[in-house]
Amino acid sequence: MFTKILIANRGEIACRVAATARRLGVRTVAVYSDADARAKHVAACDEAVHIGGSAPKDSYLQWERIIEAAKATGAQAIHPGYGFLSENDAFANACANAGIAFIGPPASAILAMGLKAESKQLMEKAGVPLVPGYHEADQDPAMLQHEANRIGYPVLIKASAGGGGKGMRAVDKAEDFAAALASCQREARNSFGSDAVLIEKYVQRPRHIEIQVFGDTHGNCVYLFERDCSVQRRHQKVLEEAPAPGMTPEFRQQMGAAAVAAAKAVNYVGAGTVEFIVEQPPEGGMRFFFMEMNTRLQVEHPVTEAITGLDLVEWQLRVASGEPLPLKQDELRIHGHAIEARICAETPDNNFLPATGTLTVYRKPACTAFERGVVRVDDGVREGDTISPFYDSMVAKLIVFGATRAEALARMDAALAETRIVGLSTNVQFLRHVVNSPSFAQANLDTALIPREAAVLFHQDKVGLALAVASAVAQTLVTERALESTDPFSRRDGWRPHGLTVRRFDFEYLGESLLAHLTYLHDGALQLAFGDVSGVLQFESLPTEGGSRMDLQFQGQRQTVQTWQLGEIVHIFCALGATQITEIDALAHAGVAAADGGRLTAPMPGKVLSFAVKAGDVIKKGQALAVMEAMKMEHTIAAPADGTVAELLYAPGDQVSEGAELLKITAA
Ligand code: ADP
Ligand code: ADP
Ligand code: MG
Repeated sequence: MFTKILIANRGEIACRVAATARRLGVRTVAVYSDADARAKHVAACDEAVHIGGSAPKDSYLQWERIIEAAKATGAQAIHPGYGFLSENDAFANACANAGIAFIGPPASAILAMGLKAESKQLMEKAGVPLVPGYHEADQDPAMLQHEANRIGYPVLIKASAGGGGKGMRAVDKAEDFAAALASCQREARNSFGSDAVLIEKYVQRPRHIEIQVFGDTHGNCVYLFERDCSVQRRHQKVLEEAPAPGMTPEFRQQMGAAAVAAAKAVNYVGAGTVEFIVEQPPEGGMRFFFMEMNTRLQVEHPVTEAITGLDLVEWQLRVASGEPLPLKQDELRIHGHAIEARICAETPDNNFLPATGTLTVYRKPACTAFERGVVRVDDGVREGDTISPFYDSMVAKLIVFGATRAEALARMDAALAETRIVGLSTNVQFLRHVVNSPSFAQANLDTALIPREAAVLFHQDKVGLALAVASAVAQTLVTERALESTDPFSRRDGWRPHGLTVRRFDFEYLGESLLAHLTYLHDGALQLAFGDVSGVLQFESLPTEGGSRMDLQFQGQRQTVQTWQLGEIVHIFCALGATQITEIDALAHAGVAAADGGRLTAPMPGKVLSFAVKAGDVIKKGQALAVMEAMKMEHTIAAPADGTVAELLYAPGDQVSEGAELLKITAA
């Protein structure tokens, strides 16, 4: 076994590799870019070497520098993780030439599987079933069109050098082929530096089922069963599971044997994945076809670890240091069911647009021990870190295990519900909706699951208006009480000299403005009303670290609610889901709200502290006019527009009620 390795990657996979190395007593060297100077993966390793600027091409793809760093720190091997240099045969060769072990397959195997078209020619010879298609070198457009017509529509044009879901075009009819080809070639040239394409029959309602394989330098090769990665958006995986639902032992054995044949055809060593597309013909049964081989550890490897009880990174290190595979095929077993969800910084409701920002709040579900593998979170970030535009948008992977699929599913839902991220948009709620959708829950899987279930997946807010408003009001009161507890003479809500105190709250929820009133009743109860909703609001503060946590009752619903307020936005998390509501500071916006008719009114009860202007003053839009005190805070009232002060209607020190006109202005 090595005594020191360098991890040529970042984020969760760098942390993941470091964890196993540490467990095995292998020292680790991190490399990092400018943007990652304080990243979690740097802290996770024993040493770290700065390798350049933030853009991948200036750092994580700078392989000469990475090899230099390995030499300088005395690392005997380099683990490339996934992405970046992991499938770069030139890098694998350069490591070998520098006398450093590459923790991955031989360069020749990477090269052989690197291009989809060439690898298909190889697989054809090895007897691995292929999707009917064209994967030869001749790229004459007229000939490609002819081939597409022969295959029969719909077809899929794929960039031979493509990856990561990029460079693919589905074509429904012959007339559309030429334009789709040109656009695919353009994207392929720009993204992969080669415009060679292949054409495949577009399999209808397919499943993506892949086989984890492992080879060693002693001629052994085994398969570690399958993963179903059918749930995809933009041809990229979002949820993966193992084993694949509906798999029979015979079909598993056939796919496993085909995957091992594929690996053996290229003298494969280390961890690899053979991806198959599985057809589900209407008459029943399943047929599988080779799609591509990924010559690296895969993002979703933890589900395989969960059902086999193995550490695949440990196997990688053992194989790369020359040891034989720890187990033989007939010693491998499947236990239970595992599901992984990729938590990404993105906006599902806006075509999954990637998002950037700060993880102001980042709370993970309670994890159980890795060995027990019940709930596992693999991530490369900590609270306060940023998701920058330089790297991919995956924040964390959530992996759950259960004795059955149903148990794993329930655990996934609970774990997603416990995942709290504030500061940037993520797909956490979307993932919960997918997990709970009829198709996923009933394992009715195929790559069109997301479009098919669109109605229940997108633009869903399961928390609902009433609970959102009640939570935001309660969180305001909890915060105020916390402030008051440091100043016992300033209790406000218990002191009601005349009549009932009514407070006004201005909210914005899902783009709609909303006015709510909270009445302090004589018996101490709180009555909350908005729109046609009205009811008694009850809540009790619960201990928490950061934000507010409370047991809340409103309108017959009782929920434990966790909130964080960032500026005007209250982020709400409860068992039903997560949502946010904007609590508009009515006083700060007073000028704007009351701009009509030249009146400036107090939007809530309070005391006038001072006027910054006098009658006759010419005022500019945004200029401070008066300061009010309410809710133990001072609020400046600003001019909504240019104009002249006509008259002041109160004096400093005056108590005013909601709606009282403070001053008159004449618009310019
Ligand atoms: P996996 O196949 O391991 O489940 P992905 O296909 O999402 O995962 O790819 C893993 C990582 O590698 C992602 O960060 C993805 O962006 C990146 N990646 C995959 N293929 C390529 C490629 N050909 N070029 C650049 N990045 C790639
Ligand atoms: P990448 O290198 O980007 O991962 P793949 O060839 O593995 O490309 O395909 C990615 C995804 O595209 C698959 O998981 C599947 O959802 C879809 N796909 C690929 N080939 C076909 C096909 N012939 N018919 C239907 N869908 C396909
Ligand atoms: Mg693929």
